[in-house]
Amino acid sequence: MKSANLGYPRIGLNREWKKALEAYWSGNLAEADFHEQLKSIRLRHLELQQKKGIDVIPVGDFTYYDHVLDTAVMFGLIPPRFGWEGADPDLSVYYAMARGSREAAACEMTKWFNTNYHYIVPELQSVSPKLTRNRPLEAYREAKTELGIKGRPVIIGPYTFLKLSKGYDAGQLDSWIDQLLPLYGQVLRELAAEGVEWVQVDEPILCTTLAEADLQRIARIYDRLVTEAPGIQLMLQTYFDAVDHYKAIVSLPVHGIGLDFVHDHGRNLQAIEESGFPEDKLLGAGLIDGRGIWRADLINKLESLQALSDHVSLNRIVLQPSCSLLHVPIRAAEESALDAALQGALAFAEEKLDEINVLVKSVRLGYEAVRAEVEAAERARQVLQQSAARNSQRVQQRMADLSSQPTSRPDSYGVRKQGQQKRWNLPLLPTTTIGSFPQTPEIRSARRSWRKGEWSNERYEAFIQEQIGAWIRIQEELELDVLVHGEFERNDMVEFFGEKLAGFAFTSNGWVQSYGSRCVKPPVIYGDVDWTGPMTVEETVYAQSLTSKPVKGMLTGPVTILNWSFVRDDKPREEVAYQIALALREEVEALEAAGIGMIQVDEPALREGLPLKREHWPHYLEWTVRAFRLSTSTVRNETLIHTHMCYSEFHDIIDTINELDADVISIETSRSHGELIESFEHYSYDKEIGLGVYDIHSPRVPSVEEIDAMIERALRVLEPSQFWINPDCGLKTRRQEETVGALRNMVEATKRARDRF
Ligand code: GLN
Ligand code: ZN
Repeated sequence: MKSANLGYPRIGLNREWKKALEAYWSGNLAEADFHEQLKSIRLRHLELQQKKGIDVIPVGDFTYYDHVLDTAVMFGLIPPRFGWEGADPDLSVYYAMARGSREAAACEMTKWFNTNYHYIVPELQSVSPKLTRNRPLEAYREAKTELGIKGRPVIIGPYTFLKLSKGYDAGQLDSWIDQLLPLYGQVLRELAAEGVEWVQVDEPILCTTLAEADLQRIARIYDRLVTEAPGIQLMLQTYFDAVDHYKAIVSLPVHGIGLDFVHDHGRNLQAIEESGFPEDKLLGAGLIDGRGIWRADLINKLESLQALSDHVSLNRIVLQPSCSLLHVPIRAAEESALDAALQGALAFAEEKLDEINVLVKSVRLGYEAVRAEVEAAERARQVLQQSAARNSQRVQQRMADLSSQPTSRPDSYGVRKQGQQKRWNLPLLPTTTIGSFPQTPEIRSARRSWRKGEWSNERYEAFIQEQIGAWIRIQEELELDVLVHGEFERNDMVEFFGEKLAGFAFTSNGWVQSYGSRCVKPPVIYGDVDWTGPMTVEETVYAQSLTSKPVKGMLTGPVTILNWSFVRDDKPREEVAYQIALALREEVEALEAAGIGMIQVDEPALREGLPLKREHWPHYLEWTVRAFRLSTSTVRNETLIHTHMCYSEFHDIIDTINELDADVISIETSRSHGELIESFEHYSYDKEIGLGVYDIHSPRVPSVEEIDAMIERALRVLEPSQFWINPDCGLKTRRQEETVGALRNMVEATKRARDRF
């Protein structure tokens, strides 16, 4: 039995990769040196995998920004606005596509399946493909000449690549397949000529819901690819869920199939048990979780391996992570500042390679050879399992009692609305913002000083109060109707709450790539989540004390906190979401008790947690709605619950939005150019909606006329009495002048609209 890896994090243990990219962009690193630095990072990572004893090492997964962008550029799919002349595209074209240039807007970026990694969306309109360079071949040669490693080149499969691209309509898909296949063929033939034996072809799209037409296309693609390059063996790699239509997929004429046995809801193993696995293929067995951060339950993994070996002989199994290790940080051994029970139960990229080795060793040398390692892993997992953090009496009692916790407001919206109107007496088209105001360098530096201990708590709190005060005055002067305190005390909308709730931990170096050079350090939810005291009451109440206008409390919702964290894997995600929800409910109640009558619970990440397969959507949407409602249902009728979401595509979850039963929802609209408003047109939505009337992602100050036009359009669909006026999202990334200018125009446009009624 062999071991394989499918991809390695690029960023480097100390984010050297990120730093090199940013230094190059800012002109502080010459191009030649930049290439050298990246090469040394790349080689170091290959060497490390070799030292760890991995038999099949991926090459070509490394990138200068994003692997989907690499594939687009390799095939010459460069939109005309980048002015590329047809020679070998250089770094300036590459980075213009990723980040925009003075002449051309960047390509769109979106989430890579259901992960928090974002890729650059290839644009296919008005381009014709041609092979500009053979990247996998270059990577293979380099690893071989520099390190003597005969790696396995990785390439994104044609169907996944095309399905992730935009700029063509459904009728053109077949023609695009026909245009790309010869190029794929050429890449593979050149690899074969070089002596490459296996290529890893990534097709995670096979784990989404596939229609009959998809299956036919996939069959056509692989029939053709294997004939294009007869000398080469294709490992068709899937991940993030079970393959849809197992039988059809395993009958494809490829030489190996990689399956995810961690995120497949048990379905891949079940399919093998029911239908067997073809005798002429290798099975890439993704048994070690490639995207979670927890040490594996090796006993359970050995059992799975045993179960697999009843159907596939061990010499045809390649043991590997469930997906590329791109999604996990690099070294858990580094995290010595964490509680020992927690640190002992973590496995990042390096430790995952060790786990793969243990499993392989057990097959090669027998269980006794790995007994000590398996037992050590088991002990470490048990220590965390039995720790006080995972055994909170208070949380567990409440969870046992979950079914009796309210998930509905006492009265229907119709009834609540009367109480709300009486209490608030807001003007028609009330104006508000989404929560945050500019996080200036001054604010960030104050927070740093406070964190380092250079500033006392008193000094920092006084500083935050000054900011709140200044912005309450600005909001009053702008004549906004519902004010916010501005979120100046928050670094990040999830981290802020994670630091105050029990059950969360923060690594010192647990970075993962989010997009390009941007890395994030997700909080780790490792224990029972509990409320330990007010988190936002002080700032909110202070803001309210300065004004007679209502100040909206501002919380991050349970689903968003969950989706932007690494989550313990000993419980279903929904249970963790309920724990967070119950903790947040206490904050909601504390705010209400302190006199705050409007509370916003943000759920911008609700949609991005949607499972890959449609059939799993209802269950996900059901528990996410339940979590949101657990946190917001105990308030009085006249207390307004707001929520906020920011994505443009949501016509398919409009029922869910309705079921959240928030009195007011604000949604990003301006970038989707009114599509969103149309969704509401065909839906009898009875609650209130704040449709974002300008795009906060741009520094441009929108004119009164533009905003007025947006309002006008929305009012054609919505009753004016349902409609709030607000920007698309929080304003933390904007500068003060931009913010004040845009809000002034927004209020002015609102006045004009009001005058029309
Ligand atoms: N209240 C948050 C803010 O204004 C919402 C951010 C978000 O939707 N991502 O910053
Ligand atoms: Zn938002």
